[in-house]
Amino acid sequence: MTLFASVQLAPKDPIFGLTESYVADQRPDKVNLGVGVYYTDEGKVPLLKAVIKAEEAIVAKQSPRSYIPIEGPNPFNSAVQTLLFGAQSTLIQEGRVVTAECLGGTGALRVGADFIKRLNLNAPCAITNPTWENHRGIFESAGFEVIDYTYFDGQTRGVDFAGMVKSLESLKQNTTVLLHACCHNPTGADITEAQWAQVIEICKAKQLIPFLDIAYQGFADGIEQDGIAVRLFAQSGLSFFVSSSFSKSLSLYGERVGALSIVTQSKDESIRVLSQLKRVIRTNYSNPPTHGAAITAAILNTPELRKMWEEELAEMRDRIKAMRQGLVEKLAAAGVKQDFSFINTQRGMFSYSGLTAAQVETLQKEDGIYALSTGRICVAALNTKNIDRVAKAIARVLA
Ligand code: PMP
Repeated sequence: MTLFASVQLAPKDPIFGLTESYVADQRPDKVNLGVGVYYTDEGKVPLLKAVIKAEEAIVAKQSPRSYIPIEGPNPFNSAVQTLLFGAQSTLIQEGRVVTAECLGGTGALRVGADFIKRLNLNAPCAITNPTWENHRGIFESAGFEVIDYTYFDGQTRGVDFAGMVKSLESLKQNTTVLLHACCHNPTGADITEAQWAQVIEICKAKQLIPFLDIAYQGFADGIEQDGIAVRLFAQSGLSFFVSSSFSKSLSLYGERVGALSIVTQSKDESIRVLSQLKRVIRTNYSNPPTHGAAITAAILNTPELRKMWEEELAEMRDRIKAMRQGLVEKLAAAGVKQDFSFINTQRGMFSYSGLTAAQVETLQKEDGIYALSTGRICVAALNTKNIDRVAKAIARVLA
């Protein structure tokens, strides 16, 4: 009997596993709509000009690579706070926001989950049905029972808000409620500002722990507009968590740049919360990496680079919207009878297309077009060269 004789082969990660099959596919006109990555019209992961500039300046400085603080560098953390809560935020002025650089949005979620677990509240974590695949795994790994709350309505392809309200109202006190602040992954369906206000009232009344996940700020309507949920929670008086990520908005996927922010009730609470947060991080990976956070801080804090980034982000946002419109039009032109206009109302990189697992399989086999078996497609992977082929192939599998 060897040590690993009983180790079972784990299933492939649904997204990274699909990418492996895509890479192995020899067809030259293959298309990967399964990823969660923004591509340019040339089908490339962009290296933003603002990132190049910031990186050049960092390299020129030839700084030594000592350890940085456990919670990450202050210029990064304070820039994150301003981005999320606004330059005039009273919460920041009152010292009520604790921020730590984390390893991407994933790292921020995990550090936040570990922190909440240590509060010993003995309550589950509730996630949207459906949600990003990793949410459940992250909170389960941190020791939570993970339950679903109602979110998507397959008929309207929007949010079943009445169902969501009912579901949230049934949660027990101290349940961590994971909320997608904008650009819901995988459905692209978001709630409105007025609906956010209602969600906040439920969180207050039921004493839930809001945990906002914002991985796509700037991909729907703009940086400020997409932060509306965070701003409304900031005004609510509640204590809450925010995980944020620069993987998409700065196209820095591999650098693992994200942050966890915790809103407390006082400066004194913040000091105690930060001290415990540092223990969670210290015993996990000790301290975060330097490079991605240095690039991000330089861009956010240097007006010239900031302007450049905002323009590049707007370009990405506009291109996604153009692809959404293009797909709706081309599906209609290809003779599809069903109404696909919901693709124009869904926001961010993804759309729950309504394609069945069997249709997705046919697209992969016959056309080399890869999507998730749930029907999620990454609209940000469409471009002017592949959109016609994709629309025609979808029309064929729907016929
Ligand atoms: N939350 C959501 C909803 C996401 O879609 C993602 C990325 N796919 C993340 C968090 C994690 O982002 P990161 O790559 O920065 O870890």
